[in-house]
Amino acid sequence: MGLPVFSLEEVRQKYPDFSIYLTLHDVNKPQVIGFLLESGITKEQILNYIPVEKYRGCPYIEDLFIFRSDSIVWCCSDFNKCKSPVIKTEKNVAKNVNNFISLRNKIIKELKNSESIPVFSKSCAGCPEIVEKYYKTERKISFVNYTGFSGCQFKCSYCVEIKVPQVNLTDFCETFEFLKEHNYLDKKVWVTLSAGEIAVDPNRDKVIETIKGYNVSIFSNGGIFYDKIEHLLAADSKNSICVSVDAGTRETFKKIKGVDKFNEVRKNLKLYSRSGNGNVVLKYIILDGINDNDADIEGFIELCKETGVRRARVARDSTFKGNYKERTINAVVDLLRKMRENNIVNDTVVGYDSLRDIFNKTDYDRIMERLDRI
Ligand code: SF4
Ligand code: SF4
Repeated sequence: MGLPVFSLEEVRQKYPDFSIYLTLHDVNKPQVIGFLLESGITKEQILNYIPVEKYRGCPYIEDLFIFRSDSIVWCCSDFNKCKSPVIKTEKNVAKNVNNFISLRNKIIKELKNSESIPVFSKSCAGCPEIVEKYYKTERKISFVNYTGFSGCQFKCSYCVEIKVPQVNLTDFCETFEFLKEHNYLDKKVWVTLSAGEIAVDPNRDKVIETIKGYNVSIFSNGGIFYDKIEHLLAADSKNSICVSVDAGTRETFKKIKGVDKFNEVRKNLKLYSRSGNGNVVLKYIILDGINDNDADIEGFIELCKETGVRRARVARDSTFKGNYKERTINAVVDLLRKMRENNIVNDTVVGYDSLRDIFNKTDYDRIMERLDRI
C-alpha cells in the first residue's frame, strides 16, 4: 500500500509527540501492549489501550468457550497428552455458565500463583501451552466454538467427533444469549462452527441468527449448499468457510469421506466462492498411502482453480501416530510447491494452525528441508 514502516526508535526521533493506535485483534493486543510498556511507552500514548497483566497462564483458558453436546471445555487438542478441563452440562444454562466461569477463575488463579501441578485441573499439568505472558486484566471470552451438532451426513475415515447423531442437552443459542446478556463476551468475539455439519443441523437457521453480527469461521464438509453460509461469506471477507476435501479425485474422495459426493462438493464450492471475497478455504488432510499421490494432488490444485478457491491448508490426520513415510512427506512438499506455483495462499501458516504445530518435529524438519531446496 506504499505506507512507510518505522521502528519504534525511528518513530521516537521523527515524531516525539506520537500516539499509537493498535489495529490487531484483542486477543493479540496484550502482548503488544506489554512490549510497548516495557519499551517505555505510556498507556496514555496508546489510544486504544486495555489494561494488561503479565503472569503464568494458558491462552485457551483465558479466551475460549467450546460448547459440545454434553460439556463445555477450553481446548480440544491433545497437548502432550494434556486434556482440557471439562464442565459437564445440564439443562440449566445459568448453572453451566456459572460453573464454567468459576472453574476458569480458579484455574487462572492457581496457574498464576504456583509452579506446581494444578489442583483444579490436573489434566493441564505439564501442558506446553502454559506460558508466562501478558493477558487482559478484564477477562472476556474471545472465541466461542459450537461443536457437536446433531449429526453429519459424511463418514470420514478419520472422524473422531460424530459417528452417531448427538443430542445436545443444553441449547447453544440460549447459552450464547446468556453469555451476551451477562457481558461475558468480548466485543469482537469470534465464533467457530465445527465438528459436525451446520448445514444439516435442524437448528441451523436459529444458530446463524444468534451469531449474526459476529465474525464466523465455519468448518463444513461442503456436501450441502446452505444459502445463509453464502450470505455470511459475501457480507464480510473476515468470515470464512473451510472444507476438508482431502482428495483430487472422485474415487479417493469416496474412500476417505465415505460418500460419493465429490461432484456435489465441487459445485457447492463454486457457489460459496462466487462473492469473490477469497474466504473459502480448502483443506487437505494428508493420509498415508491414500491421498499422497500425484493424481490426487494435481486434482486438488485443479479443484481450487476451477472453483475459484484461493486459500488452502495442509493438515495432519490427528489420529495418525508416528512419522510419515518418504512418499507422504514428498507429497506434502509437492502440494505446497504446486500451491505456490498457482498462487494459492498457504493458509496453513497464516492461520492459527502452523505446519510446526500440525506435524511432529521430525516430519516438520523433513518438509522444511525439502521446501528450502525448491
Ligand atoms: S493448559 Fe493445556 S490442557 Fe489445559 S486448557 Fe490450556 S491448553 Fe488445554
Ligand atoms: S465431515 Fe466432519 S463431522 Fe462429518 S464425518 Fe467428516 S470429520 Fe466427521
